[in-house]
Amino acid sequence: MYEKYEIVMWLETHIRIKSQTKMFCSCKNSLELAWEPNESTCPVCMWFPGMLPVLNEEVVNLAVRAGHAMKCIINEKSEFDRKSYFYPDSPSGYQITQLYHPIVEHWEVRTFVNWELVTFRINRMHIENDAGKLVHAWTKTLCDYNRAGGPLMEIVTEPDFRSKEEVIAYLEELQKIIRFSWASNADMDKWQLRCDVNISLRLHGENVLNNRVEIKNMNSFAAIWRAIDTEFKRQVKLYEKWEKVEQETRWWNDEKWISNSLRSKEDAMDYRYFPEPDLPPLVLTKEYIEARKINELPLDRRLKYLNEYKIGEDEARILSNERDISDYFENLVKLTNDPKKSCSYVTSILIKSILDYNNSSATWDNLNFWNIPFDISEMSEIIILTNKDELSSTNAKIVVEELFKRWNSWKTSEIVDEFWLRQTNDTWALEQVVKNVIENNPTQLAEYKAWKVNLFGYFVGQAMKESKWQGNPKIFTELLKKYLD
Ligand SMILES: [Zn+2]
Repeated sequence: MYEKYEIVMWLETHIRIKSQTKMFCSCKNSLELAWEPNESTCPVCMWFPGMLPVLNEEVVNLAVRAGHAMKCIINEKSEFDRKSYFYPDSPSGYQITQLYHPIVEHWEVRTFVNWELVTFRINRMHIENDAGKLVHAWTKTLCDYNRAGGPLMEIVTEPDFRSKEEVIAYLEELQKIIRFSWASNADMDKWQLRCDVNISLRLHGENVLNNRVEIKNMNSFAAIWRAIDTEFKRQVKLYEKWEKVEQETRWWNDEKWISNSLRSKEDAMDYRYFPEPDLPPLVLTKEYIEARKINELPLDRRLKYLNEYKIGEDEARILSNERDISDYFENLVKLTNDPKKSCSYVTSILIKSILDYNNSSATWDNLNFWNIPFDISEMSEIIILTNKDELSSTNAKIVVEELFKRWNSWKTSEIVDEFWLRQTNDTWALEQVVKNVIENNPTQLAEYKAWKVNLFGYFVGQAMKESKWQGNPKIFTELLKKYLD
C-alpha cells in the first residue's frame, strides 16, 4: 500500500550563528562554555524597561556570508518584525524576527544524492533571536536565559523533497556550506542546527498539496530519518482508512520512535506579527554584500577535483567536506602543481599521521590541518623531491614522520640529508653497486642463470641494501636486467 503514495516535504532549519556576542547586546554568545545559569545576561537581553536592542554587525556579516554560501539573493533592505507570544522562556514576550522582508531570499542548494546532482530551492533565510531554556526540576520550572537573545538563522526550503535520502543529503550539504562560510559550526548534537520537517502525502501523479504535519525535535540525521519513516507510515494508514490527516505539529520522541501531537491547527498560536518599532530597517550596500562573496563552495571544489583533477570520487568527497582539509589541499596544489600526488599525501599520509598523533599524545589531542606543526612548504618540498626521483615514496613517509616529531625545528631538506634519505640517480655510481652485488653473490647468480625469474627481486634488494637504501630502485632494475640477462 505504501508504493501508491508520494511524500512531499519541505524543511525549516534553525542554525545558531557563531558570533562572539548576542544578537542585540554585548553578552557572550559562546554557549559551549559551562555557564552558570543566567550568567550571560544583561538588562538588554532580559528586556528590562527602557532598554533598546542594537543589532550586532557580526551577526549580519555572518548571515550574509551564509546567504552567499547558499547561492541566494542578499536583500539590500530587510526589516524586523515582532512575533508576539507569551512563554516563560522569552523575557520580552515576543521574538524579533523577519517575516515580511528577510535578509536572504530565493535560490538553491545543489548536492549529490546517490551520485546524482540535485537542486533544492531555498525560499528564504531570515535572522531572529533565540529564546531561553526552561529547566524542569522537581516540582519547579527554572528559567535559564543564557541562550536568550542569541542569534539564529532560519532557512526555509520549497516543498522539493521526495525522499528521506534527499532530506539527509541536503542537510549534510547545508551543514558543510554553513561551516565553510564560518557562520556556524552547525553541530546537531549541540543543537547548533535543528530541523523541522513538514510532511504531506499525495498519490503519485497528483499535483495537490495535502494537509501537512510538522515534525519537531530531532537532533541527529538518524533521528530525522526515523521520524520521516514513521510519519510516512502513519499518514498512509490514515489515508487507507479514509481518515483525515490533521494539519498539526508533532513532537518526535527518539527513544520510543513515535511522535505525539503538540498542537493542531485549531489551537495554533496567533502571533500577531507587526513591524518591530525599536529597530530601523537593515540596509546593506552592494559593496558590503559583494565583499562577503564566497568564490568556491564545497560542491564547486568537489566537481573541480572530479572533472579537472581527475581525482577519485571518495577522495574528492574527503577533500571537499571539511574546510581545513580542503584549504590545505588547495594550497598544496598551488605549491606542487600536482593535484594527484597532493591528494594522495593528504588523504592517505597526513590524515593518518594527524590521527595517530592525536591518539598517541596524552596532553594534546586537537591537532588538525590548520595547526600542523610544520610549514606547508615542507610538505610540498617532499612531493617535489619525489617527483624529481630524489626521494622514494618509502623514505617520503619517514620524512613526514620526522616532521611531525620535530615541531617545525627541522626542514625537509635537513631531514633528508641527516637521515641519508636522498635517492641516488647517478647511473655510473649505481652501476658499480650492481657489479659488486653480482660479484659477491656467485651462488645466487648460478641459480638465477639456471632457473631465472624468482631471484631477480633478491638482486634488487641486495643492491638497495648495498646503496644504503639510497639507490633508485627503477635504475637498479634496469641495470640488473642488463647485467643478468
Ligand atoms: Zn545581554
